[in-house]
Amino acid sequence: MNEFRADLHCHSTCSDGTLTPEELVRHAKEIGLAGLSITDHDTIATYPLALLVAKEIDLEMISGVEFSAVHKNTSIHILGYAFDLKSPAIHSLCERHRHRREERNQAILERLAEHRMPISEEELESEGTVGRPHIAQAMVKKGYVKTLVEAFKRFLGEGKPCHVRISHVTVEETIDVIHQGKGFAVIAHPHLMHNQKTLRELLEMNFDGIECFYGKFTPQDEQKWVDIAEKKGWLMTGGSDFHGELKPHIPLGCSWVGQETFQLLKSRFYENEMS
Ligand code: AMP
Ligand code: ZN
Ligand code: FE
Ligand code: FE
Repeated sequence: MNEFRADLHCHSTCSDGTLTPEELVRHAKEIGLAGLSITDHDTIATYPLALLVAKEIDLEMISGVEFSAVHKNTSIHILGYAFDLKSPAIHSLCERHRHRREERNQAILERLAEHRMPISEEELESEGTVGRPHIAQAMVKKGYVKTLVEAFKRFLGEGKPCHVRISHVTVEETIDVIHQGKGFAVIAHPHLMHNQKTLRELLEMNFDGIECFYGKFTPQDEQKWVDIAEKKGWLMTGGSDFHGELKPHIPLGCSWVGQETFQLLKSRFYENEMS
């Protein structure tokens, strides 16, 4: 029997992934995944359609999202799982982020123009959440930089001349919204947090889980986070952070969780769907 694998971290065209919700769900099935959660940045727009397709092809699916938050001036990503897709609290946080992103994208475009790299809003191609990767793509297209990586390294990355922070929503508020939506709040890719004090402070917060299996992690990479999760009695989640062609070196399903974790999330999701 094939092992049960569920990828709990990936992006569709509703944020900065390159596969549509339908393509992403079908791709998951094709590569033999049994479960999936799509975690777009600050939006759950992928859901009505993705769930429908998943049902049609018999792939198990739970709700997911990756919220942008800020803790003492550091940008933090928080995954939400199994929440009620009808939750007004979740919808209103997504809406708040949409407004903030619009303001932020305008500010970034203004800075780029000051650096003689004009881009109009119409040149940002996205069906949903517009983020820095879309701006980087437009910069490549206009010949301002050669690659996305160069765009981030020289201009868009944290601390670079055209960087503008996205979210003023705190980590505590974000956790609270996910809980109001009856979901689980999980620290995303904790290894990307380089400040140990920030990490310690997050570990004292009201999270339900931590992303222990990520991208192309080795067992050694995972161990630190597994130990922390065990100590705290938290969920150990995992996923690829697949973005399609945007990050071609990261395939869907390269990190995943097994049946036990997925079932736990699934029962909560189904309870919420029935309510
Ligand atoms: P945003 O949500 O608009 O801040 O954009 C976040 C996205 O930008 C993430 O999904 C990352 O994949 C991508 N990103 C962030 N930093 C870099 C970087 N240094 N190089 C390439 N992509 C990056
Ligand atoms: Zn992304
Ligand atoms: Fe992230
Ligand atoms: Fe992500």
